[in-house]
Amino acid sequence: MKNQKKLIILTGPSGVGKGTVIKEILGKDKNIWLSISATTREPREGEKEGENYYFLNQKKFKEMIKQNLFLEWAQFAGNYYGTPLSSVNEKINNGFTVLLEIEVEGAKQIKEKFPNALSIFLLPPDKEELERRIRNRGTEKEEAIKKRLLRANYEISTSNQFDFALINQNVDETAKKILKLIKT
Ligand code: 5GP
Repeated sequence: MKNQKKLIILTGPSGVGKGTVIKEILGKDKNIWLSISATTREPREGEKEGENYYFLNQKKFKEMIKQNLFLEWAQFAGNYYGTPLSSVNEKINNGFTVLLEIEVEGAKQIKEKFPNALSIFLLPPDKEELERRIRNRGTEKEEAIKKRLLRANYEISTSNQFDFALINQNVDETAKKILKLIKT
């Protein structure tokens, strides 16, 4: 535990499987805490307030930006997303390793503010597989899917700006690789 890193950024395109890999990681290491973001997007079926996200309207989100209550924030596919500052500070102070699951612009902001943070970019096996995963998830309308696919091309082009880029071929293996990076 002594050498475990404190702030971990997991980024990569929508549909790459960040959420699934994170579930696996959290199940294996109870000292890792996943930050819950705020967003202005509508909840998907089954998503719960305060569990998946804090769902806010734009007015409230912009107020929080003005009050400097976010560690980072960014716009993604027409919505705002941000990491609330207070809970991250509290968890780090209490000895947890904090994991941020965020898109690339926010990831870059964090890396600039905290150069010691470990940043990991998850890549899909190929772009066709990514599109299949986004479509099979069935949570977005066609217009949102198109926005996410367009954005994915840009995000993948930035993958070399992060500390590590891993291809997410197999969830279990990816989770193990990430845990190893966190602990060494
Ligand atoms: P989704 O709408 O699929 O839940 O998330 C869309 C994208 O926003 C994903 O790439 C996700 O990682 C990212 N995201 C989630 N929370 C945050 C956040 O707090 N900040 C930033 N910058 N991106 C986030």
